Amino acid sequence: RAKSDGRNGFRFFEQEMDSSMQHRRTLERDLRLALQKDEFEVYYQPIVNTGTNRVSCFEALLRWTHPERGAVSPAEFIPLAEEIGLIGEIGNWVLERACDAATDWPAHVRIAVNLSPAQFRSQQLVDQVARALERTGLDPRRLELEITESVLLRQSELVLSILKQFRGMGVRVSMDDFGTGYSSLGYLRSFPFDKIKIDRSFIRDIEKGGDALSIIRAITGLGTSLGMTTTAEGVETLEQLNQLRSEGCNEVQGFYYSPAVRLGAVPALLTGIGAPLPADTSPQENGA
Ligand code: C2E
Ligand code: MG
Ligand code: MG
Ligand code: MG
Repeated sequence: RAKSDGRNGFRFFEQEMDSSMQHRRTLERDLRLALQKDEFEVYYQPIVNTGTNRVSCFEALLRWTHPERGAVSPAEFIPLAEEIGLIGEIGNWVLERACDAATDWPAHVRIAVNLSPAQFRSQQLVDQVARALERTGLDPRRLELEITESVLLRQSELVLSILKQFRGMGVRVSMDDFGTGYSSLGYLRSFPFDKIKIDRSFIRDIEKGGDALSIIRAITGLGTSLGMTTTAEGVETLEQLNQLRSEGCNEVQGFYYSPAVRLGAVPALLTGIGAPLPADTSPQENGA
């Protein structure tokens, strides 16, 4: 009996593997066609300045609607695009779209675009960024490029020289998901980032009352003393927002304000976020 269970188990395992490989293969095939079939869309999530309460930036986040499967998470298709060598093309498409979109926004509002480690393997990256700025006419100082620590894992001269070239063009460079890597602190010495984005996992744990808040306090203090902007990711509650504000965190991003939205919904966020609440205006009305 045990033996036959084992065999069934094995057959089941084979089938599972088969279907997961099949799944991957079809996803891969469909991903190759997604650009030309117009299945991608860039969404924009607001980042709010805690001092002014207004939107200071939007992060471009890619969305893929698969014709049969519906929405596929970037956490699934971005790594796949990296593996099959498609990220350069897709990344460039996002960059051009996002820069173009930002030209319609008020001049103080910036646009943040994520770059994957694989894009740094191509010599074309600097040219792509320069061309996107040139074609859209976006002021380079309004563009932020987000990289994760994994880009710096191999502290190659190439990566540092690319980052310096961005800087030379006037483009800002942010460290994304800070605090999750192996040597977060060390990387801050290898390059003068403009911004540190504190990983969502620390913000999520604020209310648990453990070490998260102490770590956030340390990162914010460090960022401030290094002249870097600190941004908290994944802010979902008013309590988190208030804590982060009192720790001196410069910017917040998260569902508390808004998830990423379609381009058409951006103007409403620009006027809506930070606008005085009806309650704020009532005393004036009473006094008038
Ligand atoms: P990321 O760059 O760290 O982006 C932030 C992620 O956190 C986004 O997930 C966003 O939707 C999510 N998020 C924001 N606020 C909250 C919140 O309050 N609560 C929770 N639970 N989540 C929140 P998304 O859009 O699924 O993207 C996941 C990752 O995929 C991104 O992480 C980024 O690494 C990658 N990605 C997305 N678009 C692109 C792209 O165009 N190019 C590259 N290279 N990577 C991208
Ligand atoms: Mg990011
Ligand atoms: Mg992030
Ligand atoms: Mg993250």
